[in-house]
Amino acid sequence: MDRIVIVDANARGRGRRLSTLDVIGVGPRLVASLLKSYGYHVDLLPYELFISNPSAARDFDVLAVSYMVSDVGAVRRIIEIWRKVNRGGIVVLGGPGTLDANSLMELDFDIAFKGEVEVTFSNIFSRYGSLYDILYSVREVGALPGLVIKLPSGEIVDGGIGPWAPRDVVNRIVPDVDSVTKYPYYWASRVYVEVVRGCSNFYRPASVGGDACLNCDVCRSGPLNLRIRCPINTPPGCGYCSVPVIHGPARSRDIDGVTREVKALAKIGVTRIVLSAPDFLDYGRDLLVKDLLTDPCNPKPNVDAIDRLLASLSSITEVSEGITTISIENIKPCLINEEVAKILGNYLRGTVVYIGVESCSDRLLKYIGRPSTCSDSIRAVELLSRYGLRPYVYLMHGVPFECNEDIKITLGCIDKFKSLGVEKIVLYRFTPLPCTAFGNYPRPEPAVMNPAKAKLYRLVTEFNRAQKYRLVNRVVDVVIASRYSRNPRYLVSYPVRHGPVVLVRASTRFIGTIAAVRISEVGSDRLVYGELIHVKKRLKLYQHIQ
Ligand code: SF4
Repeated sequence: MDRIVIVDANARGRGRRLSTLDVIGVGPRLVASLLKSYGYHVDLLPYELFISNPSAARDFDVLAVSYMVSDVGAVRRIIEIWRKVNRGGIVVLGGPGTLDANSLMELDFDIAFKGEVEVTFSNIFSRYGSLYDILYSVREVGALPGLVIKLPSGEIVDGGIGPWAPRDVVNRIVPDVDSVTKYPYYWASRVYVEVVRGCSNFYRPASVGGDACLNCDVCRSGPLNLRIRCPINTPPGCGYCSVPVIHGPARSRDIDGVTREVKALAKIGVTRIVLSAPDFLDYGRDLLVKDLLTDPCNPKPNVDAIDRLLASLSSITEVSEGITTISIENIKPCLINEEVAKILGNYLRGTVVYIGVESCSDRLLKYIGRPSTCSDSIRAVELLSRYGLRPYVYLMHGVPFECNEDIKITLGCIDKFKSLGVEKIVLYRFTPLPCTAFGNYPRPEPAVMNPAKAKLYRLVTEFNRAQKYRLVNRVVDVVIASRYSRNPRYLVSYPVRHGPVVLVRASTRFIGTIAAVRISEVGSDRLVYGELIHVKKRLKLYQHIQ
């Protein structure tokens, strides 16, 4: 049986090591578990570990790389090492990066998986013995859904995006936990645990380039199953996002599987767990409809399912003792109501929650396929703050159909966000992604090139910096990760309930502890300095600390 090494290249960009990369995603862990279930010997390594020990590539038959569109540079480097060290082994690609035709043309690979892999794996492994056998058979069978083969001639046989896995299949496998200990300072990293696969927003942007919307309204008010297809083939969801195309409608994982995974992660010393979902409030909503959950705002959240999930996770020893913190990822403003905010406050008080506002112009929100209005966002921020969560808000600039008036409306809401307790605003530039409605639009100019956007950029930077000053003299619990590579007299630490990186001047013997620190100074809009007060807990770790 083939021995497979999966290299996690997600967010590694061109391959430079980032000193504050503190995220361990779910995709590579899930694929590791799936391949093990087919009998393969699998090692999952973070990019840094693979690059630092190239000779280990000799121990494997297959290199599998998981990456995003922006990581092509890092992937190229991994493959170069592999081809040099391992002359006979094959190269397999997976992750959102494989949707980008340019990266597939450019990279030297043998097989790539497009989209979700559960059903594709089942189809190919039941028909062909191994990954090598697929390569030998491709000339007879042609394109298979979910699979891309690069022939020795360079020709590409592309079967398109793989089928979405049904809920029972999603629930069959618990993502791999042991390999988390291979990631640098895993104990301090945010480890993502999937609770919802896919997105419920099957609205479409109001108009896409020359393909004018027919206004049939199927995607907004039609029967749930029919919202999957649009007569003019506009991809579903927000115009800039590929989640609904790749992952389909929202499906929730069972409470038992999520609890088992979180328990196992807590046992190995993971302190920061993020429940991953394009919208956490979709959790259990799919159980309220007979059809596919393709409506982002109706029915209302499944409060009972959310309550049971969070209660189950809160009962895990390390969570109840405050060693492991649970937080949630994104929410859609249109799903927030008082009952939901109260439940989130019961279990997640003091943690960060990200709210996708994107713009405060309702005109633009409709044009880009967002389901929420500006007043939904304001209400969501207000309710979440009131019940003790710490809202972070996403804003975007440069999206198609945006005009200066839209930016001005958003500018006018910044003070409102401040007064309602928003802790941070994340302003990002629209990036056209493959397989999205806006995939063919150009990447816009940086914010500083346009007076209105430059003003927004300045205001957001000032906002974030001012919020950091409010932290000065506050005592926060942090988990100490590593030496700070730019100045080894400092240690990098992360607030256990999330927040800016805290640099602490202390001995390396404090690495691997949870400690109380007093914030003493603001370094930038992303970084603060702190003084160590006392150690609260020394973690039991499964990795040698350097
Ligand atoms: S389904 Fe397509 S054509 Fe109909 S309203 Fe939605 S985007 Fe327009």
